[in-house]
Amino acid sequence: MSRTLLRCHDCNRLLLLGAHNRAPAWRMRAGDLEPVEVPRNDEEEFRRSHARHRLGELSVVNGSFVSEGVWGDPMRVAYFEATDGSGTVTVRRRRTQLDRPVIYEVVPGRLEVRTETVEVQARDIARQIEADLPGLLDAGAVARFIGAVEEIAGGLEPEDLEEVCVDTRDTLVAYARLDEKHVAEILDRIRGEVPADTLSRIHRFILGNTEGDDVMNLVIRRAFFLRDPRGGEPFAART
Ligand SMILES: [Zn+2]
Repeated sequence: MSRTLLRCHDCNRLLLLGAHNRAPAWRMRAGDLEPVEVPRNDEEEFRRSHARHRLGELSVVNGSFVSEGVWGDPMRVAYFEATDGSGTVTVRRRRTQLDRPVIYEVVPGRLEVRTETVEVQARDIARQIEADLPGLLDAGAVARFIGAVEEIAGGLEPEDLEEVCVDTRDTLVAYARLDEKHVAEILDRIRGEVPADTLSRIHRFILGNTEGDDVMNLVIRRAFFLRDPRGGEPFAART
């Protein structure tokens, strides 16, 4: 993705700069057997139609992109921050129709992303223990192990969470790995209840299930809001 947008202050229209603006369009006209190539230069067109207006450039702020819904959905609405060097604005990206170009516009308010919940994948952990360590733990021991994970996860601060990936289906969902210290605390909580070799197998189970969305990773669910810079309660960015 290009990192620069051309902005018309008078019309609040933005154009994402880049080679995609010069990709030719194909049109079928009445009487034609084949679609004809129509050369396109959106940047030139943009500059022409806003010739007497105040133009400026904005750079996309890295890592500020958020959207609701799944990656592949072309109609999803997204927000990100952009800066002209002296101030930061919030940009909304949306489409009004599937066959129309994407619209970028500056919207009022500051983008605010919050962690709403941090969850343990309890049901999936139980299923994975059954698959990886069949018969090793009875149902009570599995429940106590999951209880220990939930207890430790419940006391974590955001800075304790080492994020390993974002859900490919939902940009507001991420997975985080428990660090060594917290893994040790979980093992301490069940140490008295299982034999030493069982404990070390559980330890290996934990370490072996911490990639991507693996069952031992915590699920972080976020939400984003637009906050009025003049104060007041944030309002949901839903459109
Ligand atoms: Zn304009």
